[in-house]
Amino acid sequence: MFEVELTFSADLTIFLHRGLIAENLVHRRLSEKTAVKDVIEACGVPHPEVDLIIVSEMQSGERRAVDFGWPVQTHVRLTIFGVPAPADVLPEALRLQTKQWNRFVADGHLGKLARNLRLLGLDTAYERDADDRRLIEVMARENRALLTRDRRLLMHAVAQHGYCPRSADAEEQTREVLWRFASSADSPHLAPYSRCLRCNALLRSVPKADVLDPLSGEPLTLHYYDKFRRCTGCGRVYWSGTHFEKLAARLERLTGNRVAKH
Ligand SMILES: [Zn+2]
Repeated sequence: MFEVELTFSADLTIFLHRGLIAENLVHRRLSEKTAVKDVIEACGVPHPEVDLIIVSEMQSGERRAVDFGWPVQTHVRLTIFGVPAPADVLPEALRLQTKQWNRFVADGHLGKLARNLRLLGLDTAYERDADDRRLIEVMARENRALLTRDRRLLMHAVAQHGYCPRSADAEEQTREVLWRFASSADSPHLAPYSRCLRCNALLRSVPKADVLDPLSGEPLTLHYYDKFRRCTGCGRVYWSGTHFEKLAARLERLTGNRVAKH
């Protein structure tokens, strides 16, 4: 048996199991060699939320960064930082998470977040009824970052990039995702109004003649508008109608910027 001491940065303490939250120093007893990733996750913190792991040797005091597979086999102290780890802590050391990503898969409880990300033009897979196995499959096959508030799911062995939205509010969650994956409002990743809110496929500008039929029940729309976009996936037609003002206002709240009309 040997003991490991863990210290978590403040942003990670929300993940710690109840009994551990109040402790600045978490002690764990291990009976065999264990990957550091498993030691951290046993405390409740999913590995995609960890950016830097520092090992301090008890005797020499030497500090160094390690990756998730590093085997814990003697008494050491671990310091674990969330994303992004402070730049002044072992600045040359390996960071474990990518800071930029623009492909996502959102779990079934995050429909409004998925819609907001699509509104911003971010490629976001979402199926309301997707079970855990389906989410993991889409994440791995399409190389998407997993967005879920289910911490156990985020701990899945094949999860590489992922994030647990802290807020229960969809707009706040959207800002969190933008912040975490560094897609600022002027980032080339953002292309508002370029994706279908319903199915995630790209929109394409179409001549008015092409929408006369699908919009035959909307004579006023056809009278007042001349620019239309159509989803290349489901065929839904978009135009700058009254709903557009609401979307523009939401975009402004999400990015803090005024976004030009298309
Ligand atoms: Zn569509």
